[in-house]
Amino acid sequence: MTPIRILGATLTYIGDETPIFSELNVEFSAATWTAILGPSGCGKSTLLRYLAGILSEKVDFRASVFTPNLTELSGQVAYMAQQDLLLPWLSVIDNVCLASRLNGKKVDDVTRQKALLLLEQVGLAKKAAARPAELSGGQRQRVALARTLMQDKPVVLMDEPFSALDAVTRHKLQQLAATLLKDKTVLLITHDPQEALRLGEQILVMNGAPARLHSIIPPKQAIPRCIDGEFAKIQQSILEHLAKTHTESTSGGLK
Ligand code: ADP
Ligand code: MG
Repeated sequence: MTPIRILGATLTYIGDETPIFSELNVEFSAATWTAILGPSGCGKSTLLRYLAGILSEKVDFRASVFTPNLTELSGQVAYMAQQDLLLPWLSVIDNVCLASRLNGKKVDDVTRQKALLLLEQVGLAKKAAARPAELSGGQRQRVALARTLMQDKPVVLMDEPFSALDAVTRHKLQQLAATLLKDKTVLLITHDPQEALRLGEQILVMNGAPARLHSIIPPKQAIPRCIDGEFAKIQQSILEHLAKTHTESTSGGLK
């Protein structure tokens, strides 16, 4: 598997004058979890949505190097959006099997069994026949996570996948995702430094306008990490870094 390498990239929403990021350089290592932190509105979701191939009509994107290119990449990607994007007219299990349905494949017994197992692992086996509207926000997020884990793609893009969960469920599902996505190239956006440190083998903080990426050296433990002294120290330094960029991005009044 190749890394995702982007050099000198500028992205501007069509109709806007100011780019969201310009001259951005980043390499997402293959078979590695990269956690991306940064203040709200700095462009994290935009970057992920572009890599997922769903912004190509809406933005002007230029880069001196972008490998693999978007066409090659989008076939290899499972994407979990910041909003759960479940289809309201499908049952929970049919939402989890959505990728198979969209590929025109018949949802066979093996696929349904795999989906049921994932629903059990995210604690929602009993809700398999329910419609998304009958679920809480956190439950819907768990269905969206199961749908993402179901797809078995080499690249997995997740935008704040655990944000609506209580602390215990979040901890369990971080563990589950780390196990099931062990050999994948994962880009995880999170607003939580502790989550970034628990799961990130590469940790990047995005900030500024246009956005830049700043790299944080993670603890040496394998993921999912437990909190120890080194972890706590780095968590503190990430918080300080975020606080500094937060002050810079809100100077002149809170946005
Ligand atoms: P983050 O995920 O870091 O909170 P986003 O990527 O969602 O940030 O947004 C970055 C910037 O891009 C924001 O200023 C936002 O208003 C702008 N933006 C997001 N989506 C669009 C869009 N479809 N058209 C124009 N601007 C957008
Ligand atoms: Mg976002």
